Amino acid sequence: MEIIRAKSDMQRKSFNYIRANKTIGFVPTMGFFHEGHLALMEQAKRDNDLVITSIFVNPLQFGPNEDYERYPRNEENDIALAEKAGVDIVFIPDAKDMYPTKMLISMAIEERINVLCGRTRSGHFEGVLTVLSKLFHLTQPSKAYFGMKDAQQIAVVDALIKDLDFPVDLIALPTIRENDGLAKSSRNVNLDENEREEAVFLYKALQYGRELVVDGEKNPAIIVKEVMDIIDKQTNGTIDYVELLSYPALQPVSLVDQQVILATAVKFKQARLIDNLIFDKNGSLVKRIE
Ligand code: AMP
Repeated sequence: MEIIRAKSDMQRKSFNYIRANKTIGFVPTMGFFHEGHLALMEQAKRDNDLVITSIFVNPLQFGPNEDYERYPRNEENDIALAEKAGVDIVFIPDAKDMYPTKMLISMAIEERINVLCGRTRSGHFEGVLTVLSKLFHLTQPSKAYFGMKDAQQIAVVDALIKDLDFPVDLIALPTIRENDGLAKSSRNVNLDENEREEAVFLYKALQYGRELVVDGEKNPAIIVKEVMDIIDKQTNGTIDYVELLSYPALQPVSLVDQQVILATAVKFKQARLIDNLIFDKNGSLVKRIE
Protein backbone atom coordinates (compact mmCIF):
# COMPACT_ATOMS: atom_id res chain seq x y z
CA MET A 1 0.00 0.00 0.00
CA GLU A 2 1.25 3.44 -0.90
CA ILE A 3 0.74 6.74 0.92
CA ILE A 4 0.55 9.78 -1.34
CA ARG A 5 0.40 13.32 0.04
CA ALA A 6 1.04 15.65 -2.91
CA LYS A 7 -1.91 16.13 -5.21
CA SER A 8 0.37 16.30 -8.28
CA ASP A 9 1.74 12.83 -7.39
CA MET A 10 -1.80 11.52 -6.92
CA GLN A 11 -2.98 12.75 -10.30
CA ARG A 12 0.10 11.48 -12.14
CA LYS A 13 -0.34 8.09 -10.55
CA SER A 14 -4.05 7.79 -11.33
CA PHE A 15 -3.50 8.82 -14.98
CA ASN A 16 -0.87 6.08 -15.24
CA TYR A 17 -3.41 3.54 -14.01
CA ILE A 18 -6.03 4.79 -16.45
CA ARG A 19 -3.50 4.49 -19.31
CA ALA A 20 -2.84 0.90 -18.20
CA ASN A 21 -6.60 0.22 -18.43
CA LYS A 22 -7.04 -0.30 -14.68
CA THR A 23 -10.36 0.55 -13.06
CA ILE A 24 -10.12 2.69 -9.94
CA GLY A 25 -12.54 2.52 -7.01
CA PHE A 26 -12.45 5.62 -4.81
CA VAL A 27 -13.56 6.04 -1.19
CA PRO A 28 -13.42 9.67 -0.02
CA THR A 29 -13.32 10.05 3.78
CA MET A 30 -12.39 12.36 6.62
CA GLY A 31 -10.54 9.53 8.41
CA PHE A 32 -10.85 8.09 11.92
CA PHE A 33 -11.98 4.86 10.32
CA HIS A 34 -14.65 2.51 11.61
CA GLU A 35 -16.42 -0.46 10.01
CA GLY A 36 -18.61 1.89 7.93
CA HIS A 37 -15.54 3.21 6.09
CA LEU A 38 -13.96 -0.24 5.86
CA ALA A 39 -17.09 -1.76 4.29
CA LEU A 40 -16.85 0.83 1.50
CA MET A 41 -13.18 0.02 0.91
CA GLU A 42 -13.82 -3.73 0.89
CA GLN A 43 -16.63 -3.38 -1.65
CA ALA A 44 -14.41 -1.11 -3.77
CA LYS A 45 -11.73 -3.81 -3.68
CA ARG A 46 -14.17 -6.42 -4.94
CA ASP A 47 -15.38 -4.21 -7.81
CA ASN A 48 -12.17 -2.62 -9.12
CA ASP A 49 -8.54 -3.30 -10.05
CA LEU A 50 -7.37 -0.67 -7.61
CA VAL A 51 -8.69 1.16 -4.56
CA ILE A 52 -7.80 4.70 -3.56
CA THR A 53 -9.10 6.14 -0.31
CA SER A 54 -8.57 9.75 0.68
CA ILE A 55 -8.31 11.14 4.19
CA PHE A 56 -9.03 14.85 4.23
CA VAL A 57 -10.90 16.86 6.84
CA ASN A 58 -12.11 19.45 4.38
CA PRO A 59 -12.14 22.92 5.99
CA LEU A 60 -14.50 24.18 3.29
CA GLN A 61 -17.40 22.03 4.49
CA PHE A 62 -17.27 23.13 8.15
CA GLY A 63 -19.06 26.24 9.39
CA PRO A 64 -17.32 28.69 11.76
CA ASN A 65 -19.03 27.19 14.84
CA GLU A 66 -18.66 23.56 13.84
CA ASP A 67 -16.19 20.89 14.91
CA TYR A 68 -13.36 21.24 12.37
CA GLU A 69 -10.68 21.51 15.09
CA ARG A 70 -12.30 18.89 17.32
CA TYR A 71 -12.93 16.40 14.51
CA PRO A 72 -11.20 13.14 15.60
CA ARG A 73 -8.03 12.21 13.72
CA ASN A 74 -5.75 9.15 13.88
CA GLU A 75 -3.69 8.87 10.72
CA GLU A 76 -1.44 6.02 11.82
CA ASN A 77 -4.32 3.76 12.81
CA ASP A 78 -6.25 4.68 9.65
CA ILE A 79 -3.29 3.67 7.48
CA ALA A 80 -3.10 0.26 9.20
CA LEU A 81 -6.86 -0.31 8.82
CA ALA A 82 -6.86 0.75 5.17
CA GLU A 83 -4.05 -1.68 4.43
CA LYS A 84 -6.03 -4.52 6.04
CA ALA A 85 -9.10 -3.60 3.98
CA GLY A 86 -7.06 -4.03 0.79
CA VAL A 87 -6.63 -0.35 -0.16
CA ASP A 88 -3.84 0.27 -2.69
CA ILE A 89 -3.31 4.00 -2.18
CA VAL A 90 -4.15 6.27 0.73
CA PHE A 91 -4.22 9.86 -0.43
CA ILE A 92 -3.67 12.29 2.46
CA PRO A 93 -3.48 15.80 1.07
CA ASP A 94 -2.70 18.88 3.06
CA ALA A 95 -5.24 21.74 3.19
CA LYS A 96 -2.54 24.11 1.84
CA ASP A 97 -1.98 21.85 -1.16
CA MET A 98 -5.71 21.38 -1.77
CA TYR A 99 -6.46 25.10 -1.44
CA PRO A 100 -3.18 26.92 -2.15
CA THR A 101 -4.93 30.17 -3.03
CA LYS A 102 -8.32 31.66 -2.33
CA MET A 103 -10.86 29.77 -4.43
CA LEU A 104 -12.13 31.95 -7.27
CA ILE A 105 -14.64 29.33 -8.37
CA SER A 106 -17.50 28.34 -6.10
CA MET A 107 -20.07 25.64 -6.57
CA ALA A 108 -23.76 26.03 -5.96
CA ILE A 109 -26.67 23.62 -6.04
CA GLU A 110 -30.25 24.70 -6.61
CA GLU A 111 -32.20 21.92 -4.93
CA ARG A 112 -31.72 19.15 -2.38
CA ILE A 113 -29.95 21.48 0.09
CA ASN A 114 -32.60 23.69 1.68
CA VAL A 115 -33.73 20.75 3.79
CA LEU A 116 -32.24 18.41 6.41
CA CYS A 117 -28.60 19.28 7.20
CA GLY A 118 -28.46 21.91 4.44
CA ARG A 119 -30.94 24.05 6.38
CA THR A 120 -28.56 24.72 9.25
CA ARG A 121 -25.17 23.80 7.78
CA SER A 122 -24.93 26.75 5.45
CA GLY A 123 -22.20 26.21 2.82
CA HIS A 124 -21.60 22.61 3.89
CA PHE A 125 -22.76 20.89 0.71
CA GLU A 126 -21.11 23.50 -1.50
CA GLY A 127 -17.86 22.60 0.31
CA VAL A 128 -18.54 18.90 -0.28
CA LEU A 129 -19.20 19.51 -3.99
CA THR A 130 -15.98 21.47 -4.35
CA VAL A 131 -13.75 18.96 -2.61
CA LEU A 132 -15.30 15.99 -4.41
CA SER A 133 -14.90 17.65 -7.80
CA LYS A 134 -11.21 18.16 -6.99
CA LEU A 135 -10.79 14.66 -5.61
CA PHE A 136 -12.48 13.09 -8.65
CA HIS A 137 -10.06 14.98 -10.91
CA LEU A 138 -7.11 13.87 -8.82
CA THR A 139 -8.04 10.19 -8.45
CA GLN A 140 -9.86 9.45 -11.75
CA PRO A 141 -12.26 6.86 -10.33
CA SER A 142 -14.66 4.77 -12.38
CA LYS A 143 -16.69 4.10 -9.23
CA ALA A 144 -16.97 6.18 -6.04
CA TYR A 145 -18.33 4.71 -2.81
CA PHE A 146 -20.48 6.50 -0.23
CA GLY A 147 -22.42 5.45 2.86
CA MET A 148 -26.18 5.85 3.06
CA LYS A 149 -25.77 7.31 6.54
CA ASP A 150 -25.01 10.55 4.70
CA ALA A 151 -28.05 10.24 2.44
CA GLN A 152 -28.34 13.93 1.64
CA GLN A 153 -24.69 13.90 0.57
CA ILE A 154 -25.51 11.05 -1.81
CA ALA A 155 -28.43 13.00 -3.30
CA VAL A 156 -26.13 16.00 -3.80
CA VAL A 157 -23.26 13.93 -5.29
CA ASP A 158 -25.75 12.22 -7.59
CA ALA A 159 -26.66 15.67 -8.95
CA LEU A 160 -22.96 16.65 -9.24
CA ILE A 161 -22.10 13.57 -11.28
CA LYS A 162 -25.13 13.86 -13.56
CA ASP A 163 -25.10 17.62 -14.07
CA LEU A 164 -21.35 17.92 -14.68
CA ASP A 165 -20.92 14.60 -16.51
CA PHE A 166 -18.28 13.18 -14.22
CA PRO A 167 -17.46 9.73 -15.67
CA VAL A 168 -18.01 8.15 -12.27
CA ASP A 169 -20.59 5.63 -11.02
CA LEU A 170 -21.91 6.47 -7.57
CA ILE A 171 -22.26 3.42 -5.33
CA ALA A 172 -24.19 3.94 -2.08
CA LEU A 173 -23.84 1.22 0.55
CA PRO A 174 -25.87 0.47 3.70
CA THR A 175 -25.27 2.20 7.01
CA ILE A 176 -23.16 0.05 9.31
CA ARG A 177 -24.44 0.09 12.90
CA GLU A 178 -23.26 -0.80 16.41
CA ASN A 179 -24.93 -3.86 17.96
CA ASP A 180 -27.60 -1.69 19.59
CA GLY A 181 -28.40 0.05 16.29
CA LEU A 182 -26.48 3.34 16.65
CA ALA A 183 -25.03 4.29 13.26
CA LYS A 184 -21.24 4.09 13.38
CA SER A 185 -19.71 7.53 13.16
CA SER A 186 -16.28 9.01 13.78
CA ARG A 187 -18.10 11.56 15.97
CA ASN A 188 -19.47 8.91 18.37
CA VAL A 189 -16.23 9.18 20.41
CA ASN A 190 -17.32 12.69 21.37
CA LEU A 191 -20.41 11.38 23.22
CA ASP A 192 -20.23 10.98 26.98
CA GLU A 193 -21.45 7.76 28.60
CA ASN A 194 -25.05 8.88 29.08
CA GLU A 195 -25.27 10.39 25.63
CA ARG A 196 -23.94 7.16 24.11
CA GLU A 197 -26.82 5.29 25.74
CA GLU A 198 -29.35 7.87 24.62
CA ALA A 199 -27.98 8.05 21.07
CA VAL A 200 -29.51 4.70 20.13
CA PHE A 201 -32.92 6.38 20.28
CA LEU A 202 -32.23 8.16 16.99
CA TYR A 203 -32.35 4.77 15.29
CA LYS A 204 -35.12 3.38 17.48
CA ALA A 205 -37.32 6.40 16.79
CA LEU A 206 -36.72 6.21 13.03
CA GLN A 207 -37.52 2.49 13.10
CA TYR A 208 -40.74 3.26 14.97
CA GLY A 209 -41.64 5.82 12.30
CA ARG A 210 -41.03 3.27 9.57
CA GLU A 211 -43.17 0.71 11.40
CA LEU A 212 -46.02 3.21 11.43
CA VAL A 213 -45.81 3.22 7.62
CA VAL A 214 -45.71 -0.59 7.53
CA ASP A 215 -48.88 -0.51 9.64
CA GLY A 216 -50.58 1.79 7.14
CA GLU A 217 -49.87 5.35 8.37
CA LYS A 218 -49.27 7.59 5.33
CA ASN A 219 -49.36 11.05 6.90
CA PRO A 220 -45.81 12.49 7.12
CA ALA A 221 -46.75 15.01 9.83
CA ILE A 222 -47.98 12.28 12.17
CA ILE A 223 -44.90 10.12 11.56
CA VAL A 224 -42.52 13.05 12.11
CA LYS A 225 -44.27 14.02 15.34
CA GLU A 226 -44.09 10.49 16.74
CA VAL A 227 -40.38 10.26 15.93
CA MET A 228 -39.70 13.66 17.51
CA ASP A 229 -41.59 12.71 20.65
CA ILE A 230 -39.46 9.60 21.15
CA ILE A 231 -36.16 11.43 20.65
CA ASP A 232 -37.35 14.28 22.85
CA LYS A 233 -38.41 11.98 25.70
CA GLN A 234 -35.50 9.56 25.54
CA THR A 235 -32.52 11.89 25.04
CA ASN A 236 -31.14 15.13 26.41
CA GLY A 237 -30.00 16.11 22.94
CA THR A 238 -31.45 19.01 20.99
CA ILE A 239 -33.33 17.98 17.89
CA ASP A 240 -32.02 19.81 14.87
CA TYR A 241 -34.63 18.23 12.60
CA VAL A 242 -36.82 15.24 11.95
CA GLU A 243 -38.02 15.29 8.34
CA LEU A 244 -39.77 12.98 5.94
CA LEU A 245 -39.12 13.81 2.26
CA SER A 246 -39.10 12.15 -1.14
CA TYR A 247 -35.77 10.50 -1.96
CA PRO A 248 -33.49 11.35 -3.74
CA ALA A 249 -35.31 14.57 -4.82
CA LEU A 250 -35.70 15.63 -1.15
CA GLN A 251 -39.03 17.36 -1.74
CA PRO A 252 -41.84 17.59 0.82
CA VAL A 253 -44.55 14.95 0.37
CA SER A 254 -48.14 15.16 1.52
CA LEU A 255 -48.46 11.37 1.65
CA VAL A 256 -46.02 8.48 1.89
CA ASP A 257 -46.81 7.26 -1.63
CA GLN A 258 -43.26 6.89 -3.04
CA GLN A 259 -39.69 6.22 -1.93
CA VAL A 260 -38.96 8.50 1.02
CA ILE A 261 -36.29 9.33 3.55
CA LEU A 262 -37.07 9.70 7.25
CA ALA A 263 -34.07 11.49 8.73
CA THR A 264 -32.95 13.17 11.92
CA ALA A 265 -30.08 15.21 13.33
CA VAL A 266 -29.61 15.61 17.08
CA LYS A 267 -27.09 17.81 18.83
CA PHE A 268 -25.42 16.43 21.93
CA LYS A 269 -22.88 18.45 23.94
CA GLN A 270 -19.83 17.65 21.77
CA ALA A 271 -21.30 15.80 18.82
CA ARG A 272 -24.08 16.32 16.34
CA LEU A 273 -25.37 12.94 15.14
CA ILE A 274 -27.39 12.14 12.04
CA ASP A 275 -29.27 9.04 10.97
CA ASN A 276 -31.91 8.11 8.40
CA LEU A 277 -33.97 5.32 6.92
CA ILE A 278 -35.00 5.20 3.28
CA PHE A 279 -38.07 3.13 2.50
CA ASP A 280 -40.81 2.65 -0.06
CA LYS A 281 -44.49 3.50 0.34
CA ASN A 282 -45.07 0.23 2.22
CA GLY A 283 -42.22 0.85 4.64
CA SER A 284 -39.83 -1.68 3.05
CA LEU A 285 -36.25 -0.56 3.63
CA VAL A 286 -33.98 0.46 0.75
CA LYS A 287 -30.49 -0.46 1.90
CA ARG A 288 -28.41 0.20 -1.16
CA ILE A 289 -28.59 2.54 -4.14
CA GLU A 290 -26.60 2.10 -7.37
P1 AMP B 1 -16.70 10.52 6.68
O1 AMP B 1 -15.31 10.09 6.99
O2 AMP B 1 -17.58 10.65 7.87
O3 AMP B 1 -16.76 11.72 5.76
O4 AMP B 1 -17.35 9.34 5.85
C1 AMP B 1 -16.72 8.84 4.69
C2 AMP B 1 -17.69 7.93 3.99
O5 AMP B 1 -18.05 6.86 4.87
C3 AMP B 1 -19.00 8.64 3.61
O6 AMP B 1 -19.43 8.19 2.35
C4 AMP B 1 -19.94 8.19 4.70
O7 AMP B 1 -21.29 8.17 4.29
C5 AMP B 1 -19.43 6.78 4.95
N1 AMP B 1 -19.89 6.33 6.28
C6 AMP B 1 -19.76 7.00 7.45
N2 AMP B 1 -20.35 6.30 8.46
C7 AMP B 1 -20.87 5.19 7.89
C8 AMP B 1 -21.61 4.08 8.39
N3 AMP B 1 -21.94 3.98 9.68
N4 AMP B 1 -21.99 3.12 7.52
C9 AMP B 1 -21.66 3.22 6.21
N5 AMP B 1 -20.96 4.23 5.68
C10 AMP B 1 -20.58 5.21 6.50
